[in-house]
Amino acid sequence: MSRSYYIAGNWKMHNTRAQSAELAQALVTELKDGKHKYLVAPTFSSIETVSAIVEGTNIRLGAQNCAAEEQGAHTGEVSVLQLKDLGVQTIILGHSERRHTYKEDDVLINKKVKLALKHGFEVILCIGELLEEREAGKVEEVCERQTVKGLEGVDASDLGNVVIAYEPVWAIGTGKTATPEDAEVVHAFVRKVIACLYGDNAASKMIIQYGGSVKADNAAQLMAMENIDGALVGGASLKVDTFVPIAKFKS
Ligand code: PEP
Repeated sequence: MSRSYYIAGNWKMHNTRAQSAELAQALVTELKDGKHKYLVAPTFSSIETVSAIVEGTNIRLGAQNCAAEEQGAHTGEVSVLQLKDLGVQTIILGHSERRHTYKEDDVLINKKVKLALKHGFEVILCIGELLEEREAGKVEEVCERQTVKGLEGVDASDLGNVVIAYEPVWAIGTGKTATPEDAEVVHAFVRKVIACLYGDNAASKMIIQYGGSVKADNAAQLMAMENIDGALVGGASLKVDTFVPIAKFKS
């Protein structure tokens, strides 16, 4: 089963509107002939600016989070309705910074996943173990739990709008990348979990990105692995010079 590669940039809490616009504009130019699927997820305050630049191009517009409710008294939160209004197509959910710094649990993440899918968004569901969980031999247990609970109640008919990003937490922003072989073991395991939940056909179609210090010099080796279908890129997505070589990696 051939899956297309999907390269996403998570800009986190970086960039003013002007800086975001400059980066987005350069990416539109550089990636217009790119062969893969692309996404940028700016910080909330830059989404509208970037939306106007990427609209109608081969770069999708992402958000880094959303509220678990549609609207109401939720100070500081941003709703799926507001993201839709800005042209957002994809929402990253369950990122390790949301899980561990902001204490989002599987129940809350699952609520957001279902709400985003109900409103027609594509969801990138991030999963991944902490270093102590890896050292305790719990990689599979953690990734299985986060996948199963994250997708609880998600109908098979919505699965085409779900992407999984395996991001070992110890590799995020640390410069330590999982070896392609180590990452592949987990990706293959997660695909098996999807097969148990939804069947082999659905599992064979599921895009599973790798995230964690992906750089130009390791992207091709990672994505050469059978079950690694792209990358969710943090730090290296903030500069054209570092993101474009990843986005245009040679398969
Ligand atoms: C991320 O935050 O999703 C990420 C993978 O970050 P980095 O590429 O900087 O490790």
